[in-house]
Amino acid sequence: MHERRISIIDYGRGESERICFRLAEKLRAAGLCPVLGEAEGAELIVVVGGDGSFLRTLERFGFPDVPFAGVNTGHLGFFQELSEADIDGFIDNYLRGLFTKQVCRTVFGSVTYGGGTHMLRGLNELVVKAADSRLAHFDIYIGENFIESFSGDGVVVSTPAGSTAYNYALGGSIVDPRLELLQLTPIAPVNTTAYRSFTSGIVLPPGLAVSIRPDPDSADDDREAARETLVAIDGNETRFENVCRIDAGLSENSVTLLRFKNYEFWSTVKKKLLTP
Ligand code: NAP
Repeated sequence: MHERRISIIDYGRGESERICFRLAEKLRAAGLCPVLGEAEGAELIVVVGGDGSFLRTLERFGFPDVPFAGVNTGHLGFFQELSEADIDGFIDNYLRGLFTKQVCRTVFGSVTYGGGTHMLRGLNELVVKAADSRLAHFDIYIGENFIESFSGDGVVVSTPAGSTAYNYALGGSIVDPRLELLQLTPIAPVNTTAYRSFTSGIVLPPGLAVSIRPDPDSADDDREAARETLVAIDGNETRFENVCRIDAGLSENSVTLLRFKNYEFWSTVKKKLLTP
């Protein structure tokens, strides 16, 4: 008979390991086949940890086309809906098909720099900053249209799923995950008579990409770092030299989260962001 593999992933922090073994035992008792630490052939991946562990798992397994569920042992748990106490109910509901699928579009980034082109993909956001603490100057294009000469610390290109993360800390809007859009949020924009930048975020429809082009005239030849640009995707940063453009947009590829009967996005937002 075809075995139904359920992958369980954790990063060995705190309670996670104990919960993994408990979950594996219960899945086995329910006739499923738990596999610890690998995703090959799995019909579902369960991440035990916080949102950071979930993001790490996506990257580790190359954004697999398999649904995810999460048992939260972190602080926030926007992606990680379940608690340890929910495990029995989760297995029962999963076997009975009592869940909905939340499909989250990802963000792609294409960095064209001195060494060629580098492709990136993330669930939360793409961040572009100067590689040191100097003022960054970027020309921002939406589609093919030049929109602004941005000066500030940098910009964040956030998905709806990432809107409650870095984007929110910058004063960006919280976006209902049922919407498909991309938000470009400035980090400490300068708005003076010397430099004029939008001080609010910009919201774009799917299909319209943003292009962030470091202004070569702003580079100071005495300082090598001026030619470096920092790009971070879901918190993982890389420094690129001589960047000519970074294009970012909503990817066609998505991440699917299983949501169970008590899940409601706005109650989660209230609970995680407002309740003391
Ligand atoms: P981290 O520095 O260890 O933790 C970042 C915090 O962001 C954790 O509390 C994490 O939740 C939370 N988080 C992650 N995704 C979220 C989401 N979609 N909605 C709400 N909160 C979320 O790094 P990490 O855990 O690897 O996460 C990387 C993320 O950190 C990046 O994608 C970026 O959004 C965020 N970040 C935020 C700031 C800021 O707010 N100023 C600055 C840099 C990066 P858990 O506690 O459940 O893990």
